[in-house]
Amino acid sequence: MSKKIYSDLGIEPIINAIGSVTLLGGSTQPPEVIEAMQSAQDMYVPMDELEEKAGNYLAELFGAEASYITSGAGSALTLTTAAFMAGDNDDLIVQLPDTTGIKDEILIQSRQRYHYERCLTYAGAKLVEFGAKDKVIKDDLEESIGEKTVAVHYVANETIDDPNALTLDETLEVAKKYNLPVMVDAAGQIYPLSNLSKYSNMGADAVSYAAKYFGAPHSTGFVVGTKDIIRKVALQSFISYEMRRVRGVGRPQKIDRQEIIGAVAAAKIWMNMNHEDRLAKAEKTCSVIASHIKGIEGVDVEIQENTIGHDPHGVRISLTKEGASLIDVQEALKNGNPRIWMRCDQDLDGNYDGNLARISPFGLYPGEDEIVGSRLAEELKKL
Ligand SMILES: *Cc1c(COP(=O)(O)O)cnc(C)c1O
Repeated sequence: MSKKIYSDLGIEPIINAIGSVTLLGGSTQPPEVIEAMQSAQDMYVPMDELEEKAGNYLAELFGAEASYITSGAGSALTLTTAAFMAGDNDDLIVQLPDTTGIKDEILIQSRQRYHYERCLTYAGAKLVEFGAKDKVIKDDLEESIGEKTVAVHYVANETIDDPNALTLDETLEVAKKYNLPVMVDAAGQIYPLSNLSKYSNMGADAVSYAAKYFGAPHSTGFVVGTKDIIRKVALQSFISYEMRRVRGVGRPQKIDRQEIIGAVAAAKIWMNMNHEDRLAKAEKTCSVIASHIKGIEGVDVEIQENTIGHDPHGVRISLTKEGASLIDVQEALKNGNPRIWMRCDQDLDGNYDGNLARISPFGLYPGEDEIVGSRLAEELKKL
């Protein structure tokens, strides 16, 4: 183990029972990805060619029309908005983020306001909310379309079925009637594999994904979309800034050739691996953890059935005891030895109720399931 790499800097590594999060560095690259990145290091290539060919490769792999690798899903969202606003007009490309005289409003439904929406505004776009908080219908979207509307945003989340939100189908139906493009944040929707082309094949113009969720370098993501929009996204990128000397907003969102190669290698593995094995392993990890907790008074434990998305299964802990809080357990684990990070449930406003928590198998290395299980049991018994 390479603990020294961190301890030399005075950092004590933690056990990751939260899942694939930016807070802890995303996911772990398989050895094949590291090897591919190492080989990429041995020579130089023109970065625009690499971006183009790598994008084509991913598109073919996913069964989509076109694709472009970006600095995370965050940058994928930003570059998409810039592409919608400026298109292939070089004067507009260099004008952003000043949107004077440019259509710059992106519509977002009230029920999908979220943490990453800020990424849609860095290139100068403004978010305009539509629909009431409790229910959004097609008329709400239709009525919110105005002179300055440039696109409609949709957040895909296959694990939450919100009957009061406008669906992607409905969003597309209205947007297409007005010739408006639709962008989708599908960052974590990487399984089932068909999800990697599903939204663009449904008619979404640009769909953003985070490669952090499947063992690529944490810093990578990609846009999947039509050839036309992907070409315009490329015009906004850090490499177009250098190659064409037309300075778009994407210059600070740089990735290196090793990362692009790493993202390609990780995608290739993801699309070809045995997912039944992956899911069975996650479930096994969960059952080891749950076996430590079962039978503790005032605590309910359940292994989640979910297999879609990037973080399958999980150990669901709920407290039935009055006056106790899982936040105390979360704190104790965080400050214990070894340090363990887990997540208590938050509501939409970011408040914890302390009764629900989920342990993710995603970021646990072999043997850590036993450690997490026994430390959890120890702290849960104290409540
Ligand atoms: C992680 C995530 C992002 C940001 O992706 P990065 O690759 O970290 O930039 C955006 N949207 C959603 C839904 C995410 O889960």
